[in-house]
Amino acid sequence: MKSVTARIHPETSSAKSVTAHAKLLNTWAEMREAGDGSWVTRICLELTAEPARSQISPVTRLPNGDYDLRIVLAGTSLVMAEDDILVADGLLRKVGVSDGGDGTVELRVILEHPATPTRDDIPGLPHTTRFTFPRDGVRDVFRGKRIGIDPGHGGKDFGIRGPVNLLEKDTSLAVALELRDLLSTAGATPILTRDRDIPLSDADRVSILREAGAELCVQIHACGVDDPLVQLYRIFEKPECAASAILGRKLTEAFFERMGMRLMDSGPLEPSESMPCPTVRVEPLCLTYFSDEANFRAPLFRKRTAQAIFNGIHRFLRQR
Ligand SMILES: [Zn+2]
Repeated sequence: MKSVTARIHPETSSAKSVTAHAKLLNTWAEMREAGDGSWVTRICLELTAEPARSQISPVTRLPNGDYDLRIVLAGTSLVMAEDDILVADGLLRKVGVSDGGDGTVELRVILEHPATPTRDDIPGLPHTTRFTFPRDGVRDVFRGKRIGIDPGHGGKDFGIRGPVNLLEKDTSLAVALELRDLLSTAGATPILTRDRDIPLSDADRVSILREAGAELCVQIHACGVDDPLVQLYRIFEKPECAASAILGRKLTEAFFERMGMRLMDSGPLEPSESMPCPTVRVEPLCLTYFSDEANFRAPLFRKRTAQAIFNGIHRFLRQR
C-alpha cells in the first residue's frame, strides 16, 4: 500500500462561486475502525484535483426522525452522474450527489443520528477527499443491549434443501455469524443459540436466551415452497406482543430498503409461548428459488442480509 499523509483540511464558512477545476469522478462510503478502537463511517470522493473549498451545513432533524446535512464543494464539477447512493449502515442512510450550480457539487447526507464530519485529503491522482462521521450515536443505542440471535435448525435437522444442495441450517448460521459481528462492533452483546452446526431443541433455545437475559430475539430461517418459480419471503411475530409487532415492522422496512425485498407477514410465530422476550422470525431467503440459492453463495449477499436485520433492530431500539 502506498504511504500517504492525510492532512486535516480547515473548513471555510463561505463557498462563493469559483471556476470549477476539480471534477468529481466517484463517491462511495465505508465503515472503518478509526484506529483508537472506535468505528466511523466515511464518505470518500475521488476527484481529478483538490476541491477549492468545502462547506458543511449544521445538522437538522427531519420529520421522520432522521437527520440531514449538506456538504458543498466549491470549484468542483460532476463527471459521475447525479446519484442517490444507498448506504444504510446504521448511521449513514444515503448520500445524494448533485450539481449545485455555479461550479459547485452538493452532497445531501441523510443520517440516523446527528453527527458532524471532519474532512481530510489524500493528495494524488485521483485526489481523495474524505468526510469522516463518528458512529457514537449507533453505539449509544446498542451499549449494554443483549440481543438474541437464533439460527434455525442444526445437526441432522437441516431444514430446507436448495436445488444445488444448499441447506437452510447453514444459511441461517452464516447470516447469524455476520449479524453477531455487526452487533459486537456496535457495542451490543449478541447471544447466539448456536454458533456452529449442532442440534438444538426449542427448549434448548429458550433456556439459552433466558439464562443470558436476551432482551429481544431474531430467529433466522429460510423459506421453501413447492413451486420452483415462486419467490416468497416471510416474517412471523410473537403473538400478542406489541414489541414483537414493532420489531417486525422495523425489520420489514429495513429489508425493503436494503434488499428491495418484501417480507410477507405470515401469521403468529410458533411455538412462541415460551420465548422469553420479544421475538421475530425472518425468512429472507427462498431456498427453493434457483437464483436465491445462487445469490446466497456470495459473501456480499449474506452481509447485506445481516445488515438488514441489524438495521431493523437498530431502528426498533432507537425509537424506544
Ligand atoms: Zn426453518
